[in-house]
Amino acid sequence: MPEPIPIPPLFLERMSRFLDNEYPAFAESLTHDPVHGLRVNTLKLSADEFLKISPFPLGDKVAWCDSAFTLTPSPLPAEEGRGIREPGKHPYHLAGLYYLQDPSAMSAAELLGPRPGERVLDLAAAPGGKTTHIASLMQGLGLLVANEIKTKRLNHLVVNVERWGAANLVVTNETPERVADRFGAYFDRVIVDAPCSGEGMFRKDMRARLDWSEEMVAGCAVRQTNILRVAAHLVRPGGHLLYSTCTFAPEEDEAVIARFLQEHPDFEVEALPQLAGFMPGKPEWLSLTTAPFGGNKSTEHTKKSKKDSVDSGEDCPLRGAVRLFPHRLSGEGHFACLLQRKDGPADELTFPWRSAKIPTLEWKVWQAFREETLGVDFPSERLRMQGDRLYFVPENVPDLKGLRVTIPGVWLGNFKKERFEPAHPLAVFLRPGQARNVLALSSDSREMAAYFRGESLPSEGRPGWTLVTADGWPLGWGKRVQGVVKNHFPRGWQIYS
Ligand code: SAM
Repeated sequence: MPEPIPIPPLFLERMSRFLDNEYPAFAESLTHDPVHGLRVNTLKLSADEFLKISPFPLGDKVAWCDSAFTLTPSPLPAEEGRGIREPGKHPYHLAGLYYLQDPSAMSAAELLGPRPGERVLDLAAAPGGKTTHIASLMQGLGLLVANEIKTKRLNHLVVNVERWGAANLVVTNETPERVADRFGAYFDRVIVDAPCSGEGMFRKDMRARLDWSEEMVAGCAVRQTNILRVAAHLVRPGGHLLYSTCTFAPEEDEAVIARFLQEHPDFEVEALPQLAGFMPGKPEWLSLTTAPFGGNKSTEHTKKSKKDSVDSGEDCPLRGAVRLFPHRLSGEGHFACLLQRKDGPADELTFPWRSAKIPTLEWKVWQAFREETLGVDFPSERLRMQGDRLYFVPENVPDLKGLRVTIPGVWLGNFKKERFEPAHPLAVFLRPGQARNVLALSSDSREMAAYFRGESLPSEGRPGWTLVTADGWPLGWGKRVQGVVKNHFPRGWQIYS
């Protein structure tokens, strides 16, 4: 067993300063295992329906997220196939029935409060925890843009988004500045789940413990301030901006918001509900740090300008933020603050994505495939061709020209001369009963395991494209030829589970 990486002593010393008489309970909570959570994909089934079919034990409902449960580690050892890791390997996971996520992280999308039909932007989206949650809350209606700046983090985002099966999602790979240049004040809601020092993840992420330093906290605060400044341009008048981190450091939380409010008089804090175990924002902690907006600790910082101080009185709007702590609730550390842009005349940005019509031959090929294989229609005005690929795009999607678009919608498949070959995202987008040819497997059968290994499966029936299901849940494609279903499950998909 490798030596556990110690929690940085300076971090503990800071926390004892901030938490005062709550510190012993906090320090004790750091000696416990992290809490795991499972959020049901309500685009596909309800939490109660999942409860009836759940293959592993579920704990309590998460108090601030109706569709989620805590996961209780099984008493059986992992080698018997029933350990806590199992939910990440189960066919239901690959079918997009749920997302595994720290319960505290589930607060952000709930507090953002997206509604069906709105325009929502997740500016820092990978690996897709908040994006998938927002997609479910929007019931697949409206437009959800999930942006990720780091190309190497895109794969996980794409896989998670594809198996979620939302019809209103676009993924872009851009800097916040370029997103702002393209869209302007277009969105009803924007979430900035900012890169941070990760103090709230210390129970589960050893790397975060290793990387942590006060300098890192200060560096993150600068980066967060810059991202939030750009995000402000993307919110329509009257719209909302949610800022969240998974760190306790007030330099990265309250101080970032305080600086933002100083620079943006057209925004104000909308107080969040103080739900079970939440703690309000703590502006007074800023005076216990050495950073701007506080810092009476070191002489270097004693001469502060008025600009660098925050009024931390009882009415301070920063108290409308929420802090989540592992000693107060079942989850890791998190911070969230909701800002609203004051109302005013909205920019009228209408730039619908008009793309060339689908050529006649491809249109016929697609129709033939659809009639033979699918029991569901896709409105023609939402179909777009890109190269030889066919996508089902969100309703009223704007023109995305000039942006690096990773996914413009649900990838339905590819035209190959006079054939149409369905893509994996179409399989996991389908709901039970929406395919004409089905190979129905039991999730714990040997055939299921063989399907994941890429093997062909003997199966009599109608030849052609066949949807492989796990207990009825669409999972991937096969093609039946002469009593054998050839395997079209994408290689490499399982590593993302
Ligand atoms: N929202 C994600 C989720 O729930 O799964 C987690 C987001 S993670 C906390 C922060 C993200 O910000 C990372 O994906 C990181 O690549 C991205 N990021 C890093 N630097 C950035 C920058 N300068 N601008 C925008 N995003 C950045």
